[in-house]
Amino acid sequence: MPPSKKILILPGDGIGPEVMAGTRRVLDWLTASGRATFEFSEGLIGGASYDAHGTPLTDETVARAKAADAVLFACIGGPKWDKLAYDVRPEKGLLRLRKEMQLFANLRPAIVMDALAGASSLKLNLVKGLDIMIVRELIGGVYFGEPRGIEQLKDGTRRGYNTQAYATSEVLRVARVAFELARKRSKRVCSVDKANVMESGLVWREEITKLRDAEYKDIELSHMYVDNCSMQLVRAPKQFDVIVTDNLFGDILSDLASMLTGSLGMLPSASLGAVGADGRQPALYEPVHGSAPDIAGQGVANPLAMIFSLAMMLRYSFGMLTEADMVERAVQAVLSKGIRTRDIAEPGQTPVGTFAMADAVVGELVRDGA
Ligand code: NAD
Repeated sequence: MPPSKKILILPGDGIGPEVMAGTRRVLDWLTASGRATFEFSEGLIGGASYDAHGTPLTDETVARAKAADAVLFACIGGPKWDKLAYDVRPEKGLLRLRKEMQLFANLRPAIVMDALAGASSLKLNLVKGLDIMIVRELIGGVYFGEPRGIEQLKDGTRRGYNTQAYATSEVLRVARVAFELARKRSKRVCSVDKANVMESGLVWREEITKLRDAEYKDIELSHMYVDNCSMQLVRAPKQFDVIVTDNLFGDILSDLASMLTGSLGMLPSASLGAVGADGRQPALYEPVHGSAPDIAGQGVANPLAMIFSLAMMLRYSFGMLTEADMVERAVQAVLSKGIRTRDIAEPGQTPVGTFAMADAVVGELVRDGA
């Protein structure tokens, strides 16, 4: 039996506790079937942490996240906390956690499953079989750059400003993640920037090109301006395999790409840091969706994005490729039987709730593992 993996579970707010509880059933099956041993601890983040401690993330939770082999996080936020000052808002807790764990690479797969291809807003032939991976730089660029602020001008009006900047080291570490991923896929990376009008984009482009020439000659590297990329993603998305881009462009393009797949309730993500001297790599896995306050507490939320996030954790943090494949196969099998939560149900299909969906996935795992 491999050594036990320490997982910090952060259910967060809104539908977070429900989708996390559903996902725990899959984790419990993995344990019960003898495929893994996990050591769980659970913590608060976001509004739940603010209510309990007056801050969206405590130092103690940060320390536990750093000590864990992986963090499984659901979602934060909701109208209850919308009027709070920026520095104690739920979102601040998540941004701080990413920064503290130095999670600089955000991996967002956009995969169209055959059973759900009809749910995409694009024509079936454009998206059927789509499988792209967007790698977004997560802790640099304009969201964190200094100086930033709002200043009062002499004429009584105001000026808001932010700084977009990328240093060589910030570009190279995220580019490496993209190149390594590409090696396990089709060996193609498209780097997206705005080098025609931004110096930070020029540095981005030149540094990635130098890295490719020095260490990744087996990878085909192309470059695209972000405006063209957004157009190409809706015109012919299957031309892409791995896309690597900065924080701001990645935020927008990954949401765009996620909608090609049809449903927010299906999309996982992974955020990774650098591999340390001890061989450990900080990692946080989370669904793309938010806390869905409109349906929270009703037991109808789709747990599949959270379950896919768990599969990414098995694959990227624990090297449990067989089990990750099994979980993804189980979800495919459930969907192909027409079992759907409300958000992905088609006319004529009676939707199931969060736990019935999670149990259906476990049922397929039991069949597959038998
Ligand atoms: P949202 O993703 O929470 O919801 C958008 C729509 O998708 C809603 O109609 C919701 O019901 C539906 N939806 C989302 N996830 C679903 C699921 N698993 N199953 C079924 N339906 C699902 O986005 P929003 O409404 O813009 O934001 C709500 C709150 O979430 C806000 O406070 C926002 O700040 C926060 N938020 C948090 C994160 C995060 O935790 N990473 C991300 C985005 C938004």
